[in-house]
Amino acid sequence: MTSLTINNEALVNNTNIIKKLSDTSEVIAVVKGNAYGLGLRSFAKLLEQNGIRYFAVTDLNEAIDLRESGIKGEILMLTPLYNDADLHQAIIQRITLSITSKACGVAAENIAAKLRLPVHAHLCIDTGFGRYGFLDSKTAEIIETVQLMEHIQTTGIFSHFYGAGCKDTKHVYKQYNRFLTVCDTLTNAGISIGMRHIAATTSFLRFPFTKLDAIRIGSGFLGRLALADKWGFMPICKLEANISDIYTLPKGHNVGYGNGYTTSRTTTIAVVSAGYYHGLSVERQTIPYSRRFTPISMLRALKHQITRKELTATVGTHQFPVIGKIGMNSLILDITGYSLSVGEKVTFSINPIYVNSSIPRIYSEYCSNSTLYNSVKEETTEEFPLLKVI
Ligand SMILES: *Cc1c(COP(=O)(O)O)cnc(C)c1O
Repeated sequence: MTSLTINNEALVNNTNIIKKLSDTSEVIAVVKGNAYGLGLRSFAKLLEQNGIRYFAVTDLNEAIDLRESGIKGEILMLTPLYNDADLHQAIIQRITLSITSKACGVAAENIAAKLRLPVHAHLCIDTGFGRYGFLDSKTAEIIETVQLMEHIQTTGIFSHFYGAGCKDTKHVYKQYNRFLTVCDTLTNAGISIGMRHIAATTSFLRFPFTKLDAIRIGSGFLGRLALADKWGFMPICKLEANISDIYTLPKGHNVGYGNGYTTSRTTTIAVVSAGYYHGLSVERQTIPYSRRFTPISMLRALKHQITRKELTATVGTHQFPVIGKIGMNSLILDITGYSLSVGEKVTFSINPIYVNSSIPRIYSEYCSNSTLYNSVKEETTEEFPLLKVI
């Protein structure tokens, strides 16, 4: 069976690193996109067991799903809700709202006033990303919005970096300063802004001073970093498949669709039950961003194509090259000179977001002698009061 396996020990390791580096800042686990493909419910449950009390998602369905699966902590919607039915549902499920504009605040206030339930919200500020939020210059509008939200408690304020991975660090400094300025202006105007958060994994690791009151971490939990790892993060998941057949091809034989590969010698091949259906060789375009096509940007793209790593598979401790084009459900390894058997386990490193959600997610057992529980911070978050649905 082909499956995505998640290693709890590695997750505990990564969680410990994040907690240690976060120091006194709270850790908000971003579990959008089906927890980056790891399976929302199982992954969030595991994080909760590991002491995480704050979660964030970008889709209301995921927020509701988390709550219904028994997550007790705070669940923050990172995106705005304008629709009355959505707001109604979110408030009943004690989801923390994001307020991105005055209209968004008005819509939330209308429903909050009707429901008469405690409602928490974070103010979302656009300090430069160009995606969601009050422009940081619009302080009068922000203040007006907070004041009209009489039935909503502002428990946080946040923004998001667009250039945490850029070589030029000026982008981060610019946004960070704008964010602090808007926070200070609001505070000076007598607005209680709650927890301030702007850093995600890359900015938190590269610019630790940006951690403020909370950090929003997604890829860090997975050990998938966009910068060199100085801390000891571990990859937490891999795709596992099996060798479904082994035989030997003569020299000059085709391998795979499209006549893209011909054996240059007598070649022993292993057919493996995994392909692009399972997310292999499916990648986001990671050609370095460029504003327009210039000779330099085209050269960069070409270099990226040429230096791209070929897909390999691990069997035991050995890496085998994938030859020929990979298929939907199968690929071919060149295992010449090795004696492997049909049924043997093969693993691939993979970004789980590309693994079709119908593929089983298998979580390894939690090892109880781990040191994690010793390092869990004392409970500092007050749980929301229990609600009566009217
Ligand atoms: C995805 C996301 C994060 C988490 O980013 P990582 O780089 O995966 O840690 C944080 N904040 C917002 C607003 C996001 O959309």
